[in-house]
Amino acid sequence: MARDYLMAGNWKMNKTPSEAKALAEAVKAMPKGEGTRKMVAPSFVCIPAVAEVLAGSDVELAAQNMSSVEDGAHTGETSVLMLKELGVSSVILGHSERRHIYGESDEFINAKAKLALQHGLDVVLCIGETLEEREAGKANDVCFAQLEGGLAGIDAAQMAKIVIAYEPVWAIGTGKTATPADAQAVHEACRGKIAELYSQSVADAVIIQYGGSVKPGNVAELMSQKDIDGALVGGASLDAESFASIVAFDK
Ligand code: PEP
Repeated sequence: MARDYLMAGNWKMNKTPSEAKALAEAVKAMPKGEGTRKMVAPSFVCIPAVAEVLAGSDVELAAQNMSSVEDGAHTGETSVLMLKELGVSSVILGHSERRHIYGESDEFINAKAKLALQHGLDVVLCIGETLEEREAGKANDVCFAQLEGGLAGIDAAQMAKIVIAYEPVWAIGTGKTATPADAQAVHEACRGKIAELYSQSVADAVIIQYGGSVKPGNVAELMSQKDIDGALVGGASLDAESFASIVAFDK
């Protein structure tokens, strides 16, 4: 089955609202191939400015995180209701920086994923092993456990609103990229796991992005792998020229 390529920029804690607005204008103008989707994930405070720029465009707007509960006494948190009202359509959950710096567990990520789906948001669920886990030969098992934990209680119909982002922790922001063959092997294994958890048709339809030092120079080879359906891009998405080359990788 032909899956779209989803090219997403995770701006992390970079760009002030005025800078984010300018970058959003540039992303809006970026040409993309047929079957390619563009997405940006600004910080919470930049979302209103970016939403204004992207309204009615072909660029999807994502948040980088959200609270596990709808509202209430949760100082410093951001609710799904707030995100929806601003025009956010997706949320990135379980990013390795959330897992490893802020200690988010699969259970916590799963609660957020279920809440996001309940409110009609799409979810980009990030998974990936550390270097130590890879060297111990546990890459697939770690990803499988994160899939099982993150997707617990999510049914086959809801899987249409889930994107998986495989991001080996050792490749994020380090300049080290998994070789296309190594990335493909994990993507294929994860698609197999999704077939086991759901069905082959769910597995065939799910977009699995690769993330970890994706750049203009390595994107085409990564995207040529049969189970790699897009990229979640950190550093290289902050520069309009680099992200434009990534979005137009097939040109
Ligand atoms: C990311 O933030 O998800 C990421 C993959 O970052 P980078 O592209 O900078 O490695």
